[in-house]
Amino acid sequence: MTAPADMDRLTAEIDARRDDLVALTQALIRIPTLNPPGRHYRDICEALKPRLHAAGFTVQLLRAEGARADSDKYPRWNLLARREGTRPGDCVHFNGHTDVVEVGQGWSTDPFGGTVKDGRVYGRGACDMKGGIATAIVAAEAFVACFPDHAGAIEISATADEESGGYGGVAWMADQGYFTPERVQHVIIPEPLNKDRVCLGHRGVWWAEIETKGRIAHGSMPFLGDCAVRHMGAVLAEMEEHLFPLLASKHTDMPVVPDGAKQSTLNINSIHGGEPEHEAGYDGFPAPCVPDRCRIVIDRRFLIEEDIATVKAEIRAMMEHIKAGRPGFDYEIRDMHEVVPSMTERDAPVVRTVSAAIERVLARAPDYVVSPGTYDQKHIDRIGRMKNCIAYGPGILDLAHQPDEWVGIDDMADSAKVLTLTLAELLLAR
Ligand SMILES: [Zn+2]
Repeated sequence: MTAPADMDRLTAEIDARRDDLVALTQALIRIPTLNPPGRHYRDICEALKPRLHAAGFTVQLLRAEGARADSDKYPRWNLLARREGTRPGDCVHFNGHTDVVEVGQGWSTDPFGGTVKDGRVYGRGACDMKGGIATAIVAAEAFVACFPDHAGAIEISATADEESGGYGGVAWMADQGYFTPERVQHVIIPEPLNKDRVCLGHRGVWWAEIETKGRIAHGSMPFLGDCAVRHMGAVLAEMEEHLFPLLASKHTDMPVVPDGAKQSTLNINSIHGGEPEHEAGYDGFPAPCVPDRCRIVIDRRFLIEEDIATVKAEIRAMMEHIKAGRPGFDYEIRDMHEVVPSMTERDAPVVRTVSAAIERVLARAPDYVVSPGTYDQKHIDRIGRMKNCIAYGPGILDLAHQPDEWVGIDDMADSAKVLTLTLAELLLAR
């Protein structure tokens, strides 16, 4: 265990860097890395490069060429920084996503201004997760300032596209071999899960499009056609009557937060049937037609106790059941996207180390949680085969993607102390 005197040194080092932590968070917020479409990825990587270089890191800028959504107009740039120690040991990796979601309505501060007020930094991405990136970087800088001769290696990556699936970021880096158990031994993703909680993983997700089919005819003689929207109505009715109660009855032992997500869930993301919506400016009436197709996109979140094949079979069985009782009913299900649940063991080394650091810094035992939605841990687990991975960082989860998003300065400083102590535990092995 890190000696109390060493811990005091690290803590003092973070306290001395408090203004710098705030300034770095503001600087990152001021680069509007909106995704989609994926703006300014290179700018944010370039902004981080000199300071990481100054702290002894070798810095690479990597473009995810050929990845989903990468283009010359919107290239997917990622930063990978690595600092070698002076003796053999483990590699500890901090990964943060640089992209932020759209601003939306209802802001009272400039979303890209990085306003500081009442001990908080405001802005789109403040909590999810530029505050987390700044925290991890300052934690690493404080650690190497105190212990330049550490063992093993420290890596920091700032990656693209997490909000849209991570294919131009962590998934691409894992495909290139940057996340493997041979290269990297501990991964911490400073997503906003609150400074006293260790996030072990996430539920699974299956997105699919369901289409019901009909036959177009004149709207004055609907009996000559077959209305795809009515067929979809039968699907929705079946969901209300049987599927939603069934999903609500499936409970998980995963410590998912919030409580409502401790069961299987399904959202209907969209519904489209009949004529497309008219262009802005068209003020005519629609034409009378019987819709010949209707589509919904479903977002099914599943539990570690369920498997993806059963999740899909459940929907197919529901559709077949409707088909058996409804003349003319025909449908198609198209897979869009799927991720299996991921959950790191409670006694994995990174979990034990971060938990012990939280206890020492905050003088209380951490909570263990699982995220309702997925994040980049999925790629590190599945492509990288790296099981020793968690999310831990400052910021309040509920504020993510909201107007007037903010991150607390005390929370960032506390998390930075936890992360710098974590580095000491893992990289000062004697
Ligand atoms: Zn995030």
